[in-house]
Amino acid sequence: MNIPAYISAISERLVGELAFTLKIADLIGNQKNSLQLKIQERLRSEIHERLRSETREKTYKKMMLAHRDALTNLNISLCKECLYPIKLEEGEYCNRCQPE
Ligand SMILES: [Zn+2]
Repeated sequence: MNIPAYISAISERLVGELAFTLKIADLIGNQKNSLQLKIQERLRSEIHERLRSETREKTYKKMMLAHRDALTNLNISLCKECLYPIKLEEGEYCNRCQPE
């Protein structure tokens, strides 16, 4: 399983959405107003985080779809957050990624 290939396989829809939003952010940024620059930076980081999150979720789903049986036979699963291998009885997240 080639994880970098999955991570680079961001959907065209997301890339299109990113380009559109960055264009708006650039229009806002061109006005050189510090508040607007903050909004631009905020948009960029929100989009970046959303792309990361969606990519991670897609990668998890693809890997589970492709390898669920093999993983189950080994009595392991993958952490939903970081894809680290975990024992089935540990649930959906590794120790480091347990939600509060
Ligand atoms: Zn984890």
